[in-house]
Amino acid sequence: MRSNMGGVDKGGIRRVAMAVAGDMAAPLRSPCFFCQMARGSTSADLLFADEMVIAFRDIRPAAFRHYLVIPVKHIPTVKHLNRSTEDHHLVNHMLNVGKTLLERDAPQSNYRFGFHQPPFYSVDHLHLHCLALPFIPSWKRLKYSSLGHFGFIEADKLLAKIRPLSELSSQL
Ligand SMILES: [Zn+2]
Ligand SMILES: [Zn+2]
Repeated sequence: MRSNMGGVDKGGIRRVAMAVAGDMAAPLRSPCFFCQMARGSTSADLLFADEMVIAFRDIRPAAFRHYLVIPVKHIPTVKHLNRSTEDHHLVNHMLNVGKTLLERDAPQSNYRFGFHQPPFYSVDHLHLHCLALPFIPSWKRLKYSSLGHFGFIEADKLLAKIRPLSELSSQL
């Protein structure tokens, strides 16, 4: 292979380079990192796992305790959730898992639970931020507040938005 390169014109080298780049791009299209975590194919420490969700520590914590709860199923963002029993049940379960973990690990804290909305998310797999305050450093509160500019929606507000209509009427 290398011995052939000597006589190749510039166009030929460019074609070789593009072919290599094409090969390199293939792994990037494979399932996202959170999906791999959910399948247990990473060495990440999980705080919780069941058939619907997994929970783990945020690698860049913004508070005293900062966990993420994600669905096992790949759902890109909150915009992909519907007003349906299935999605409402899933988000409710994510919130309950996050609350249980924080109440265990930070029982005296105030909590914040919510999601970043497009375009303000860093990972293309739905994830619930579970924070036990205080924020560290304190300006991080802006990123996890509906008053900030980061499109944060609190979990309770999202649940109200996707609550199935049948459940609303049954509560009256
Ligand atoms: Zn995924
Ligand atoms: Zn996020």
